[in-house]
Amino acid sequence: MVAITRNSKVVVLTGAGISAESGIRTFRASDGLWENHAIEDVATPQAWERNPQVVWEFYQGRRRQLREVEPNTAHLALVELEQYLGENFLLITQNVDNLHGRAGSKNLIHMHGELALLRCETCLSVFEMMDDVHLESDYVACQECDNPRLRPHIVWFHEMPFQMPEIYAAVEDCDVFITIGTSGHVYPAAGLIDVAKSCGAHCVGINLDAPVNLQQHDEFHQGKAGELLPNFVTNIIKK
Ligand code: NAD
Ligand code: ZN
Repeated sequence: MVAITRNSKVVVLTGAGISAESGIRTFRASDGLWENHAIEDVATPQAWERNPQVVWEFYQGRRRQLREVEPNTAHLALVELEQYLGENFLLITQNVDNLHGRAGSKNLIHMHGELALLRCETCLSVFEMMDDVHLESDYVACQECDNPRLRPHIVWFHEMPFQMPEIYAAVEDCDVFITIGTSGHVYPAAGLIDVAKSCGAHCVGINLDAPVNLQQHDEFHQGKAGELLPNFVTNIIKK
């Protein structure tokens, strides 16, 4: 098992699996459907253009669910790792839930956006709107311009993830790269391990099922993140 010191640069990439034990369903768990919706119907710019009502209702459901879930032991273990490493730690998540932030992670990039945020496509303002009134609204208007309909601040398929230059810089520079709860299907996130590996990082995976990019991992721990991660963090810090 990998050992780290306070000087080790560690980048962690998480996916839907880390939030599964909090009660948020993963994407692949249900045959390519996300909460019974085909991805192209709810998670593409074309879907938003053609049928904003369906897309909005889908994301309002995901947003409202955040009031009912709590961070789990895996989210908390990553906070402990960050407390040990300080500036040498970066957490990149593909998740759009807010559980890493609520657990206490600070150096955190939401590469696929955040359910808690809404964005105006006209003036590009971003708003955090998680109060009960906005979570029940049919549409939410922009407070900065006359656009009547904000969109979810989510990276949909065919859109570019956020903060890629910062992500590549950190991944190229890290000593240890850890993937947790991600199936390795969604690019460019799934390709970050290739970058880490080609730059000499030791790559670790923690996942319930073998990810499609399993062979890129130097070390793989199969199981539930909430069960494995607390001990894993304690062990790599102690060694
Ligand atoms: P995915 O659904 O494709 O894969 C999830 C992986 O997690 C699977 O390989 C599965 O074996 C594993 N897993 C399930 N339960 C686990 C557990 N308890 N511990 C460890 N691993 C577990 O997810 P992905 O790779 O993140 O890609 C899906 C896309 O859908 C992402 O881009 C993400 O933005 C989005 N999504 C997000 C959420 C969320 O924010 N919580 C939920 C569903 C989908
Ligand atoms: Zn606006």
